[in-house]
Amino acid sequence: MCSDDSEGVGAASELDIGEPSANASPALLDELVAANHILFDQGVVDAFGHVSVRHDKRPDRFFLARNMAPGRVTLDDLVEFTLDGEPVSANGRKVYLERFIHSEIFKARPDVQAVVHSHSHSIVPLSVVSGARLRPVFHMAGFIGSGAPVFEIREVAGDATDLLISNSEIGAALAQHFTQSDIVLMRGHGSTVVGDSIKRAVYRAVYAELNARYQLQALQLGDVTFLTEGECRACVDRVEGQMQRPWELWLDKARIRCEAVPN
Ligand code: MN
Repeated sequence: MCSDDSEGVGAASELDIGEPSANASPALLDELVAANHILFDQGVVDAFGHVSVRHDKRPDRFFLARNMAPGRVTLDDLVEFTLDGEPVSANGRKVYLERFIHSEIFKARPDVQAVVHSHSHSIVPLSVVSGARLRPVFHMAGFIGSGAPVFEIREVAGDATDLLISNSEIGAALAQHFTQSDIVLMRGHGSTVVGDSIKRAVYRAVYAELNARYQLQALQLGDVTFLTEGECRACVDRVEGQMQRPWELWLDKARIRCEAVPN
């Protein structure tokens, strides 16, 4: 099956603090592994990008893979973290430099249960053009609402960063943008999307990328008609209620690809 024993380049190696908590739901952890594979298979993440889920019994903890490509994540690769972004079960393994995206959003938004961060291809152009915004053009993307805010790292960390969300301070500044939106673009970097479940966050990450592609294509043809806020709300209520359907399809497809990869 999918596995990866290689070490991440430029990864942080942190000492564990505290004790891992017992009894996270096995089904939840299975779903997190599945989410990693689906996001890779759907082209949302490549070697980079990550997905997390809040601990189902300890809201002050969350799970994220160790530093590795999402498409190769297994149950053994999941690491538990505190909301300060500190690992409690890394056992010396390297962890993602950008884990503070997840820790600070979970801290700022108690309703959020899952977070997807990616550099998906069609999103990045919309993060770098002054005045441009990711806006919803079709009914699968109502969660984008009136338009995704863009996080400008220079406002908090100056004009000479690597653009990574590499500490709690930058993570907290990013998380503030989620008070007004469930998706935030990050200038010159990518996007982060949240949901009240792994399935919803994955669904939104897949359709955010598709919406961005459609929006870029439509803009070349002329004036674009975007969804109204009322249409967005109705689409979230109705269309996202069916997210189990794509999840099962995407999972089947990801498993076929995963099983085809030799160790
Ligand atoms: Mn990133």
